[in-house]
Amino acid sequence: MHFPARVTLIEVGPRDGWQAESILISTPDKIALIDGLSASGLRAIQVTSFVSPVRVPQMADAEAVCAGIARRPGVEYSGLALNLRGVERAAGARLDKVDISSSASDTHSRRNTGMGLEDAAREVHAMAARARALGLRVRAGVQCAFGCAYEGGVDPQRVLNLLRGLVACEVEEVLLADSTGMANPAQISRMLEAALPILGEIPLVLHLHDTRGMGLANVMAALEQGVSRFDTAFGGLGGCPFIPGASGNIATEDTLHMLAEMQIATGVRLAAVAAVSARMALLLGRALPGKRNHLALQPEAP
Ligand code: MG
Repeated sequence: MHFPARVTLIEVGPRDGWQAESILISTPDKIALIDGLSASGLRAIQVTSFVSPVRVPQMADAEAVCAGIARRPGVEYSGLALNLRGVERAAGARLDKVDISSSASDTHSRRNTGMGLEDAAREVHAMAARARALGLRVRAGVQCAFGCAYEGGVDPQRVLNLLRGLVACEVEEVLLADSTGMANPAQISRMLEAALPILGEIPLVLHLHDTRGMGLANVMAALEQGVSRFDTAFGGLGGCPFIPGASGNIATEDTLHMLAEMQIATGVRLAAVAAVSARMALLLGRALPGKRNHLALQPEAP
């Protein structure tokens, strides 16, 4: 089997993880945690989202976080936007990249953005154009690409058509998101076989959740297809805070561990990420769901 020699992990805990937390994390704590992550060797970090502070109070300090973090050379800092206003805020906060997407599920799309599928896809194209005009790199994606909590199965042809639209926008990176952890490895393989030829040279990122325990198996299926970019969250943040042990995003540490054991390079020090997770667990007052972050207190391997 041929796997990529090197994999890039995009750390999304500060966005996808923290937005799931009911405890408000202070701006100085957020800044210290993000700086800890950027010091670990991670080369891409999604630091916030530019959304309504009424709908997502945790992200009300987006600009202050962006202004406070140390901008480490070689690290790409990104933020998520749901509309043109969010894209403009991301540019104003001097981020490198903006993350935009529409959904393959009509119900999810209406609940998340108030727009049906086609209107949302049109909005993404307008957002990509605005981002480029403002000097931002663009990652554009499809949410609920492998299933939807409201609708169940999602037609793969719908996903592929959305991808064709994103390719036409000439974005820097394309994302397929298993937003609620419904994908299985066989489904990942089938989707990638159809999707990768459409994307050509545009890199694909997979955003996976471990909700049903299939997260790393899905990474494995994607590695076999040559995919080398994955969203992960330190400590496995992103689970529901009210369900003990509920899994969120695939954990950065667990993914790093598997890749290291498979001799796939990442450039990231697992122990440094796990130390950030240990501070996070103290702030939240509970253990985080990842497996390998609990080894934070063990001496780091040379
Ligand atoms: Mg997510």
